[in-house]
Amino acid sequence: MGKYRCIICGAEINEINFGFNSVAFTEKNSQDHIIKCPFCGVGSEFLSKSEDVIRIGKNFLDEKTIKILDHAVKLEIFNGEFYKRAYKMAKQSDIKELFKALGNVEMMHAKIHFNIGGFEKMPTLVNVNYDKYDSDNALLELANAKEEHAVKFYEKYINEINNKDIVRIFGALCNVEKEHIALTSR
Ligand SMILES: [Zn+2]
Repeated sequence: MGKYRCIICGAEINEINFGFNSVAFTEKNSQDHIIKCPFCGVGSEFLSKSEDVIRIGKNFLDEKTIKILDHAVKLEIFNGEFYKRAYKMAKQSDIKELFKALGNVEMMHAKIHFNIGGFEKMPTLVNVNYDKYDSDNALLELANAKEEHAVKFYEKYINEINNKDIVRIFGALCNVEKEHIALTSR
């Protein structure tokens, strides 16, 4: 296979990593058919054979957009940390693997927003106790609610951003979260 570049997260997709996080996708990459970025999950329309990635001039971002990006970083870390915890708590191995892969993808989303916003330090969030979600079903249900919330977040704020590239990125990531809703509903 040739190499691809994800224009959103900047990752190179190659024969070693094309199958990473595959349980986080309803349709999977194969060596000759790359349809998703294995790291941030965006579709093939954001994968390029050239080295181009979307670069955003920070000077053009207004205060509101910076605030939305800050919120987006926190939301994705919050969900990513939940999945790390859920990975440890879950009993069934396929659910464990799903949570692990979803956590990786959400953390990459946080990184994307972090880089666009030009922030200096990844925020540390308060620790949430998830002990009461003491079955795989309860964890899946919470995961599903978190994904619904993420989709609503992107849909609400996409219209308040003053940069068309970020609007494109929000749209792409929103679609990834929609796929996560499907994967966490059983
Ligand atoms: Zn990517």
